[in-house]
Amino acid sequence: MKFHVIRYKPYLCELIYIDMRQEGHIGLALLLIAPITTLLIYFGNLAIGLVFTGIVVWFSTFPDVDIKLQKWTGKNGIPIVRNIITITHRGITHSVWFAIGCGLIVGSISLVVTSNIYISGIIFTSGFLGVTLHSVGDIVTPCRSRL
Ligand SMILES: [Zn+2]
Repeated sequence: MKFHVIRYKPYLCELIYIDMRQEGHIGLALLLIAPITTLLIYFGNLAIGLVFTGIVVWFSTFPDVDIKLQKWTGKNGIPIVRNIITITHRGITHSVWFAIGCGLIVGSISLVVTSNIYISGIIFTSGFLGVTLHSVGDIVTPCRSRL
């Protein structure tokens, strides 16, 4: 007699695995930042609103770069590389720390270019929000993201 161990949740997860596609992440991000973009354009100017939106849209798909990186750093990756850094799907690139890091990078670049702390703050927020809203999109899909 053969027993089958039924791992209900992972099986269900694999069966109806729906990973939000890039278009979905961009659409969700645009929808959720629409009030902020409107306020930025109304009280600031069009350029700030467009740059803010563009950075959020770009970062809203960036965390899934881990799918490409898994080839080298995942479970079946190159051992030498894998021992130094292990990146799995929906791991570190879907964390708050990664969002803060992305925000700091674009915010710092903005500070060097504009020398304006307020604009840099807005740019930091756009990088942070882009990554965070990506994770929000992943949370609402069946294979939940671990924040
Ligand atoms: Zn993702």
